[in-house]
Amino acid sequence: MMDRYAVIGNPIAHSKSPRIHAAFAAAEQQALHYEALLAPLDGFVVTVDTFRQQGGRGLNVTVPFKLEAFDYARQHGTLTARAELAGAVNTLRFDGAQVLGDNTDGVGLVHDLQHNLACPLSGKRVLLLGAGGAARGALLPLWQAQPAALWIANRTADKAVHLARLLNQPAVEGCGYPDLDGQHFDVVINASSSSLGAETLPLPAGLFAPDALAYDMMYADTPTAFLLQARSLGASRVADGLGMLLEQAAEAFLLWRGVRPDTAPVRSLLRPTPLWMN
Ligand code: NDP
Repeated sequence: MMDRYAVIGNPIAHSKSPRIHAAFAAAEQQALHYEALLAPLDGFVVTVDTFRQQGGRGLNVTVPFKLEAFDYARQHGTLTARAELAGAVNTLRFDGAQVLGDNTDGVGLVHDLQHNLACPLSGKRVLLLGAGGAARGALLPLWQAQPAALWIANRTADKAVHLARLLNQPAVEGCGYPDLDGQHFDVVINASSSSLGAETLPLPAGLFAPDALAYDMMYADTPTAFLLQARSLGASRVADGLGMLLEQAAEAFLLWRGVRPDTAPVRSLLRPTPLWMN
């Protein structure tokens, strides 16, 4: 029988993960089966247990179950350091009775920035907007890329201050949007869900340094509200989160199968023409 994997969420029909992992498996000549698993909102644990009993080897976890997946891994197994700091799990691996919980979102983001977008973070001033699950997952991998400064700004400033304290480094600052006045950054990452509601953010003029890159974790078939705003504020380069989605998937594949697939062919499958002419 082929090894079974799935993405678990609610809703799940829209997920691109089955297409991504099928393409990875074909490219790497790995015989595996990958499906979309709809769990009832109050039935995450039962659905995971049943999947494991049926021989399931691994899960990608998406909205709204990343916190429950964290609790599941903490109760039944172990967590990676980056999952521990994120307080959320997006990848589960099952080896018999053993469970490993990981978070590949942040490392996927950093890989997309540094490798696909040729934007090294070392020595750069980096700003993370938002302080929810996605921001929290990005925190440690961003810091490990050795930026000169890492600021976190959030609508509810206290949450950004709290996140910054988790890293406990002098170059890491948490604040509200008004505190961004007079600051400038080389890389500005939108990890808030503002673009979901097509809303702009209260960003000051001069926020983007010369040659700055604006990155929206949200991805869509058309440019997001944040990227349009960033362009109007003078960001020279912009990118959305499709690359992050692909890279977090490649990291999960690596955790399960021991090989990291090339994401470029799958990117051209999902987005044959570039969204932006940078
Ligand atoms: P959460 O619900 O955990 O957090 C939402 C955050 O957005 C909070 O900080 C909230 O601020 C802020 N926010 C919401 N609306 C607004 C607004 N109108 N103006 C300013 N701030 C706002 O969401 P997640 O962290 O899980 O997800 C955030 C985004 O990241 C989503 O767009 C999601 O699609 C994307 N994402 C992309 C991934 C990828 O692979 N590309 C992976 C994971 C997430 P406050 O605290 O004040 O409420």
